Amino acid sequence: MTARLEAIQGDITKQKLDAVVNAANTTLLGGGGVDGAIHRAAGPELLAACRTLGGCPTGEARITKGYGLPAQWVIHTAGPVWHGGTGGEAGLLADCYRNSLALAIDNGVRSIAFPAISTGVYRFPIDRAAAIALEETRKFLARRGEIEQVVFVCFDDANFSAYRQGLQTG
Ligand code: ADP
Repeated sequence: MTARLEAIQGDITKQKLDAVVNAANTTLLGGGGVDGAIHRAAGPELLAACRTLGGCPTGEARITKGYGLPAQWVIHTAGPVWHGGTGGEAGLLADCYRNSLALAIDNGVRSIAFPAISTGVYRFPIDRAAAIALEETRKFLARRGEIEQVVFVCFDDANFSAYRQGLQTG
């Protein structure tokens, strides 16, 4: 089956898909940006579940239930902080997408939403981040047929335009 890839502009906490990905930090104990929004919408049970996980190294992913979210699952991944690009940031960001998708499949997820990981306070350049997200996701979907729908949920205009362009040129 050909998986559908799309970009929308909106709030990831409202997405009614099997899983939403959280751009978390390595503690998994909550933060600002999309992480804060997901925790607020999911409710305190999400933080309680995260506390049991013992953190998440950069590039890896962990899963919890979605609690108060419309999504059944939250896949938490810790993106790299951008330090100019020479610290392996691109590879670590690719790891986030690949590991999140692998964990999704392991849990029977068929539809999944991603935020633009690392492009907020972690300052990863938006165009490069979108290119990595799309390339890694396309590679993964070409190998594995289980995922039917991937939605890139863009909060801001710059990300939305980067993803739309990347999808057109794919
Ligand atoms: P990071 O620390 O990985 O940079 P941020 O949460 O600061 O994480 O930002 C990641 C991206 O998530 C940014 O592009 C930001 O605009 C976006 N974002 C913030 N809130 C939401 C939301 N509710 N839904 C989707 N994306 C969001």
